Amino acid sequence: MDTSERRRHQLAIRWKNPWEPQWMPASLRDTLNNRYHSRDFNYARSEYLRTRLLVVGLVFTLLAPLWLLVDYLLLPVELLGEVALGRLGLMVTLLGVLYTAWKNQNKLNRLRNALAVLLLAPAIFYGYLVVMFGDQLSSLVGYSFIPLLLIAFLSVFPLTLVESFGIGLMIFTIQLLALSITGQLSTAYGWQDLWLLGTLLAISLWANHSQVSALLRLYRQASMDSLTGLLNRGILMKQLEELCRQRDELVKDKETPNPITLLMFDLDRFKKVNDTYGHSVGDQALQVFAQILRSELRKNDLVARYGGEEFMAALPGTPKQDSLDVAERIRKQCEQAFVLAHDGEKVTFTTSIGITQIRNDESLEDALQRVDSRLYMAKHQGRNRYIDADLPLDEQDLSYR
Ligand code: GH3
Ligand code: MG
Ligand code: MG
Repeated sequence: MDTSERRRHQLAIRWKNPWEPQWMPASLRDTLNNRYHSRDFNYARSEYLRTRLLVVGLVFTLLAPLWLLVDYLLLPVELLGEVALGRLGLMVTLLGVLYTAWKNQNKLNRLRNALAVLLLAPAIFYGYLVVMFGDQLSSLVGYSFIPLLLIAFLSVFPLTLVESFGIGLMIFTIQLLALSITGQLSTAYGWQDLWLLGTLLAISLWANHSQVSALLRLYRQASMDSLTGLLNRGILMKQLEELCRQRDELVKDKETPNPITLLMFDLDRFKKVNDTYGHSVGDQALQVFAQILRSELRKNDLVARYGGEEFMAALPGTPKQDSLDVAERIRKQCEQAFVLAHDGEKVTFTTSIGITQIRNDESLEDALQRVDSRLYMAKHQGRNRYIDADLPLDEQDLSYR
């Protein structure tokens, strides 16, 4: 990607969709869908989703055959065979859900689909019984209760409003069809049933909203550096480890993983800035530097405050030359940036940068050590420069420095 392409790409990220409801409170936009959720928050949410999916899935899978005992006591004998067949189909589907949940750690989309199947399979089983036995069934409380129970279960999961509403609507439609098959759609009983379902769905959506916004609040508190608003070191390391884990999986499957470039920054002679102008001016410089990083990196890149005045960026899927261009732009922007001291004097600062690509056959620690050593080298060579760890020093373009 050349510079102009990259700029266009960044503009596209910042472009505001005119149809996006601007009147909506931020907390509602956060829980409406996952558009504003970071990759790491998606991992965290998928972990919550997975645990609950496994627990509820296990309970449903056990209940599907065990409930035959209740069927045996309540249903006429001639219906038992078909019901048992339906239950068998349900149990096999639920076992599939359990398997998917077990195998797909951190894969939000797959877990979300598995959850939809977990709740829709019993609803379809219910629809099957209605089609088979019509209104013979509606008098049995245990069965007419199924759609209500499923909608109530939506509240257990940390779903966005769109996800929850989508699944709820499908269950609602199944109940609508069931009522029309049994001819109850035009009766007070049918309307009462739909009313109850709608109310329960609204309560579940409220619970989903509260759950996702509480999770987001906690996540933001735990993952963010309070001075700069960037990720903190702990969360960066967690995300890098996850990227390396995905890389290892691809390598194992003999596929070529996307390159991940690491950029490590350390502001030059920063002690002097603090000593000369005071800590609060130093803090402002850190905030300005964080803003430069944010403006030069993509939404997909990870940017973190690594330590006091040390920062780290990880650029997944960015070829080396592009990473060098990014480093150079950040270095230049830094040269031009300034903060104002208390007496109005312009305080400037520069940064040194170490760069490396994480190799496919090495550990994250090795790559971190290498990038750190190149940063150290950049300091020794006079600061305000970058050094690429993957090129021998005599092949680096040092002409501009
Ligand atoms: P070098 O060019 O070798 O990096 O020189 P340096 O003075 O920047 O040396 P070093 O990186 O060791 O110094 C780190 C300094 O950064 C020490 C401390 O005063 C400052 N610092 C660390 N965290 C903060 C912070 O949160 N706010 C402010 N204002 N300063 C900080
Ligand atoms: Mg330092
Ligand atoms: Mg420093």
